[in-house]
Amino acid sequence: MMRIPDAEHDDLHLGDRALIVCDIDEVVLEFVAPFQAYLIHNGYELRPRSFRLTGNVFALEDGSETAQAEVDRLLEAFFAEQDGWQTPVEAAADSLARLADRADVVFLTAMPPRHRAIRRELLSRHGFDYPMIATEAAKGPAVRALHGERKHPLAFIDDIFINLHSVRAHVSQTLLINLMANESFRALAPHPGEGVEIATGWAHAETLISAHLDRPAA
Ligand SMILES: [Mg+2]
Repeated sequence: MMRIPDAEHDDLHLGDRALIVCDIDEVVLEFVAPFQAYLIHNGYELRPRSFRLTGNVFALEDGSETAQAEVDRLLEAFFAEQDGWQTPVEAAADSLARLADRADVVFLTAMPPRHRAIRRELLSRHGFDYPMIATEAAKGPAVRALHGERKHPLAFIDDIFINLHSVRAHVSQTLLINLMANESFRALAPHPGEGVEIATGWAHAETLISAHLDRPAA
């Protein structure tokens, strides 16, 4: 089984109970809206034309499309300064606090581990005091490494379908929830596929997860 490298995570001590693995960008922290604001600040704009960043970023000065390498550079700079830009997703902190009475919560973010410290501080500032794993590896094996053969209920929340499908492939009994805060990009998203619940927001996600936790172990 995969081991999660120490450099990528906070202290992880799971209790003998259910587990909720939760993405960060677009799930507990706004990403698209603050990144759009960051781009404007730097002379670019992100237009919601399709469900991706690359190809949808343009220079404000002449309207030219921004190349992948420059989008990558802007994204890297944004993550380095995220604490000045990213804000909590509505109702996320309250919903997670209620769910955390019944289940362990672990954040799993597909962000380069070098930005862990700044994100850790930002999360704690907004009351998200749950351990975080920051990794660029696939999410399915990471969830499998966390949960192992335990019989407890498991829920996974993410805005990106490839991550939901990765977890589905590695831990088949997981409740999979697609949640995306940004309405413009949510409207452009492809259907997440079979076996994935689409949550309209945190109230809906909390209802789905609570019902899953109430279910007797298989
Ligand atoms: Mg995300």
